[in-house]
Amino acid sequence: MDNGNCLFSTSFEFAEIEVAKNSMTVFTPTIDVRDSLRATWAEINLGNLRKNFQLIKDRVGTVGVMLVVKANAYGHGLVEVTRGLCDLAECVGVAVLEEGILLRHQGIMSPIIVLGGIWGDQIPLFIEHDLILSASSIDRLLQIDDAAGATGKRAKVHLKIDTGMERVGIHYFNANKLQETALKCANVDVLGIYSHFANAEAEDISHTKLQLERFMEVLAFYEKRSINRPTAHIANSAAVLRLPESHLDMVRPGLLLYGVHPSANIPGSIDVLPAMAWKSRVVYFKVVPKEHPVSYGSTWISDHPVRMVTIPVGYGDGYMRCMSNRSQVIINNRKYPQVGTICMDQMMVNIEMDSAYNGDEVILLGSSDNSCISVEDMAVWANTVPYEVLTSINTRVPRVYV
Ligand SMILES: *Cc1c(COP(=O)(O)O)cnc(C)c1O
Repeated sequence: MDNGNCLFSTSFEFAEIEVAKNSMTVFTPTIDVRDSLRATWAEINLGNLRKNFQLIKDRVGTVGVMLVVKANAYGHGLVEVTRGLCDLAECVGVAVLEEGILLRHQGIMSPIIVLGGIWGDQIPLFIEHDLILSASSIDRLLQIDDAAGATGKRAKVHLKIDTGMERVGIHYFNANKLQETALKCANVDVLGIYSHFANAEAEDISHTKLQLERFMEVLAFYEKRSINRPTAHIANSAAVLRLPESHLDMVRPGLLLYGVHPSANIPGSIDVLPAMAWKSRVVYFKVVPKEHPVSYGSTWISDHPVRMVTIPVGYGDGYMRCMSNRSQVIINNRKYPQVGTICMDQMMVNIEMDSAYNGDEVILLGSSDNSCISVEDMAVWANTVPYEVLTSINTRVPRVYV
C-alpha cells in the first residue's frame, strides 16, 4: 500500500481514498508483483529519475528545482515519484487540486504548488491542505485573502502572470495591479511569482525571449519599491536547456526529468536517461494463411503465410489506435511491426518466419541488448508529442518500481 519495492498498481484491487468533501474519489490500486495478474506492465526506474533530477540541478547551479509531477508524474506514478524524489526538490508542482490533496493524504510534507486554475469553492480546500495557490487575477487573490481570513490560517500563493501563453494568468501589462493588491492582502503570503513559455522548444527562440522580457519588466516592480521579489520562475524543460537567463530563482522541468527531450536537436541537451519501460508478453501464436486479413477493418493483409503473435495491450491501455500498422515492438532482441488495427485490449505483431513463444517478453517502450524504442519514436508513430505518449499510458497498466 505504500512505497515498498515490488508494489505496483492494477485495476484489480482498489484502496479507496476520499480526497475531497464533494465526494470526489481517487483510487490507489495496489498489488504485489509476484501475484502478477496482468501480462502488461510499466517499469519505472526511480534511480534514473533521481539521476536526471541531479543532472538538472547541476545544470542550473544554485537555482531551485520544482519537482513537476502533474498528470500522474507524466505517467510514472504521482505518489511514488514524489516520495522518491521530493527530498531533492525545492517544491512539488501539480496541475490540479486533487493531485495535491492526494499527496497530502499520502503524507508528503513538501511545499506543493497547484499550477492550474481554481474554480468554485475550492479555495478553503487549498488552505486546509496547505497547498500553494496560483493567484491568476485580482478577484481571485481577494477571494483567497477572504477565505484565509475566514479560516484564521494564512494562504500561500504564487502570482501567475501571462506573458504570451493566453492561458490562465493576469496579462503582463496588468500585472502591477495584481502585485499592488498582493501587498495589501492581510492573510496571504506571496511566496512566488511565475509565468509559462508557449514556444520554448521551437527552433525560433524570439517569442520565448519576448516572454522573458515581459516577465522581467513585471519583476522590476519589486526593485522599484526596494522589496525582495518572491521566488520568480518561468523555465520549463526546454528553457532549462537553452535559455540560462530564464532560470531566475527556480526552474520547472517536467519532461526532461522523465528522461525525454522536449524536441529533437534542442540546443544544450543533457544526458538524461529514460525512466520508463513498457512491457508485455506474447499470449497467442498462430500462422495466418496468405490473403487472410488481420483485425478490425481488415487493414492489413499478407500475400504469403506469416507467423503472428497477439500481445495483450491496446488503446484501452493507452497504446494509441492511430499507431496501427505504424508501430514496432521488440521480441527476443528484434524489432517487429505491429499489423492490423490496434484493438482496445490486444494487438497483433508479425514475426514473419521467426519464433516466439507464449510468455515471451515484448518491449513496447524501452531497450533490449541491441534494440531500442524511445518515447520519441512512439510520438512519431502516433503523430503527437512525447508528453502525450507518456500521459496516455493509463492506470490499467500496473507500474512496477525498480
Ligand atoms: C507542465 C508544466 C511545466 C513543465 O513543462 P515541461 O515542458 O514538461 O518541462 C512547467 N510549468 C508549468 C506551468 C507546467 O504546466
